[in-house]
Order: sequence, then C-alpha cells, then structure tokens
Amino acid sequence: MQRILIVEDSKMVQQVLRHLVAQYLSVPVDFAASLRESAGLMKNNKYTLALVDLNLPDASNGEVATLTLRCGIPTLVLTGSIDEFKRQQMLEMGVVDYVLKENRDSYTYAVKQLAQLLGNQGTKVLVADDSQTSRTMMRQSLERLLYHVEEAEDGDQAYQKLLADESIKLLLTDFAMPKKDGFELVKSIRSKRGRDSLGIIGISGSGSQSLSAKFIKHGANDFLTKPFAPEEFHCRVMMTMEQLNLIETIKDSANKDYLTGLYNRRYFYKASEKIITEQSLLSIAVIDIDHFKQINDTYGHQAGDEVLSFLSNKLTEQFGDALMARLGGEEFAVLFSGEDQDAAFEKLDELRFLLTNMQVEAAGQFISLSISAGVAQLQQDEELSELINRADVALYDAKGGGRNQVVIHQ
Ligand code: GH3
Ligand code: MG
Ligand code: MG
Repeated sequence: MQRILIVEDSKMVQQVLRHLVAQYLSVPVDFAASLRESAGLMKNNKYTLALVDLNLPDASNGEVATLTLRCGIPTLVLTGSIDEFKRQQMLEMGVVDYVLKENRDSYTYAVKQLAQLLGNQGTKVLVADDSQTSRTMMRQSLERLLYHVEEAEDGDQAYQKLLADESIKLLLTDFAMPKKDGFELVKSIRSKRGRDSLGIIGISGSGSQSLSAKFIKHGANDFLTKPFAPEEFHCRVMMTMEQLNLIETIKDSANKDYLTGLYNRRYFYKASEKIITEQSLLSIAVIDIDHFKQINDTYGHQAGDEVLSFLSNKLTEQFGDALMARLGGEEFAVLFSGEDQDAAFEKLDELRFLLTNMQVEAAGQFISLSISAGVAQLQQDEELSELINRADVALYDAKGGGRNQVVIHQ
C-alpha cells in the first residue's frame, strides 16, 4: 500500500499542498508540521515517499530529511533558499530532488514530482555501459527515482535484453561500448521498438557535442554529456518518461472508446487479425442491447449512456482477458480465443440470463435491460470480415426470434 508523508509547518503552504494533493495524487497522504509529529507518524506508518520542509520550528537544519532518508524513504525537500554549499549537502544526503519555495508553481512541481515518482515504481530501466563504475552511479541515481534497474555491459547484451523484455521502458546508453556501440544499439533497437514503447537517452563523453546530436538522429529522445550534474540527469530522465507516457495516453485514446473505455471497432479488427494468424480455434460474439432506443426515449440519453457503461463493465467482469470492443452505438463484440462456438454460447447465455435478472441503476432510476447476441466460430480459411458477418447474421436471427437470446450461426 502506497502512502506519502508531507512535512510543512506553514499553514498556508500546507493548504496549497492539500489542494494539489487532491488534484494529482490518488494515494493516502499524511501531513505533519514538525519533526516530533513526523517521527510519531513514521512509527505507525510505512511511507513510500516524503516531501519535507527543511526548516521547521523544532528542526531548522533539515533534520526531518535526515530522518526520512535514514528510514529509507525517498525524499523530496522544500527549501526557502539554496546556495552551493546547501545544494552539495542535500545531494550528499541523497535527496531525490529539491524544490525552491517560490510560488504556487513550485508546489505544483513538487506534487507532480510525487505523482511521477509513484508511477516510476517498478518501471524497468536498462543501463548499458561497459564501465562498472558508471553503471553503478547511474543505478544509484535511478533507484533514487524508484526505478527498477537492469544492467548490460555491452551493446549486444543491451539489444538482446530490450528485445526479450518489452517491460523495459527506458534505455540509458553510453556511446563507446564493445560489440555494438551506442549508435548501432539505438539504431537497431529503434527499428524494433518505437517511441511509444521505449525512451532512449544517449550518453557521450566530454568534448563530443557532435556525438550527442547524432544520438538524436539515430532515434534517441535525448542525450547527456559527461560529466553531468545529478539534477540534469534527473530532469532528462523524468522528461523522457513523461514523453513516453504522453504518447502512450494518446495512442490509447485513439484505440479506445471514450464513453466506455473499451477498445473501438478499428482496434478490434486490427487486434483480431493478429490473433487469427496465431490461433485457429476461436469464436466471435456480436452483442446488441434490445430496444435501446426505448431506453433513451423513456429515461433520457444520460441514462442510456450509463447503461452502456454498465454493460461494458459487465462484459469486462464476465469475460476478463478476452479481446472486446464497443463496435458502435449499443453494439459490442467479444473474441473468445481458443474456444469453440458452444463454449462461447454458454458464456454469452450466462451473461444474457444474468442481465434479465437484474436492474441497472442509471440517472436515479431502475432500468431493465436485455441483450441479443450472435455467435460464430472461425472456419478453415475464413477471413475475419466473413466471420464477423456470420456472427451478425446470427444476431439478426436472435432479434427476429424475439430478442433476449443467443444464436449460433450454423
Ligand atoms: P433493437 O432491439 O432492434 O436493437 O432496437 P434498438 O432500439 O436497440 O436499436 P436501434 O438501432 O433502433 O437504436 C439504437 C439507438 O441507440 C439509437 C441511438 O440513438 C442510440 N445510441 C447510439 N449510440 C448511443 C450513445 O452513445 N449513447 C446513447 N445514450 N444512445 C446511443
Ligand atoms: Mg439494439
Ligand atoms: Mg442497433
């Protein structure tokens, strides 16, 4: 269970922070105003992250940060002022980042950092460098940002690891490495894993500005030139990951239906085509709500929307990992991989029966609903469009046969 500790003595700043927390964080957050209070909270709770003010009434020299760090809690600090000495001191202590208390934007930055750090937890990063010292340094910095770090000591090993494990989301790569240099690595892995799947930061030695630019030309998102400050490292990594997440969100929204969160027709066809090449035993069901127009007319469009969301949730609940989509309007499709038409029929009929025995609460009213469905099993050499057509024909028969029924296309 994730939990965050925020320590700040100013009532006003605390209020601003509480607002931002409500906006950006979805995990429990405890607030303390002093070292004493923080120590008390830490006795009774386990914290994932801490955001602490360096200057408190009973601890004016960053003692809270010392305490949270000593307990192994990754810590961000808030400070009223910063000079080189203080900066060095904080970096040596191992704080994740420091934020100057200037205005609302600083607090927004701090809370967004907390949110991003929570998201980092467990995300895999690969460090490719032939120098053990460099790898260890980067590992420490990355673990401070809560990433899960993997290492590769040459370009070839890095390439293999990235191909084998799609859950590695970020690559940090040195230029000069045995077997395959940084450019070769970036070029070859980029052709396999796009910008929506892997972020890449190239690292080059000092005095080689042109190398840095070349990294970008070969497909890296960003680069760092050695030696770099910890803050620079931190910012580049966080920015690259933010980019990756944004691309993922955009891609997701292009594949999904806004109202129900299910995949859309386009994605369903694309994903089904792929499944068909790998699995010859499968069935597809096309589902349509009965007299949905009447539901809209009687209870209003808003209630209609809620019924659609309700059915989507039920489909997800009942059919778990199966590929499913909202094809459009009040029509849905499910692909049952590895199942014949009888198995698919049983599942659909169970859902149909379940729905006839319940009412949906939508827009403050209780609404009865039923579905009709057509099922078809993939035949030898059949195209996806033909299969879906046959399921559609069966659905049409179900409607003609009086609705509230499932029909198999024979
Ligand atoms: P049948 O039993 O033959 O399927 O009848 P039906 O009324 O369900 O089918 P029909 O195709 O006549 O009407 C479907 C209605 O679904 C018409 C359309 O306004 C409504 N609809 C389509 N998309 C949405 C949506 O996103 N939200 C809501 N509330 N209604 C929608
Ligand atoms: Mg309908
Ligand atoms: Mg319809």
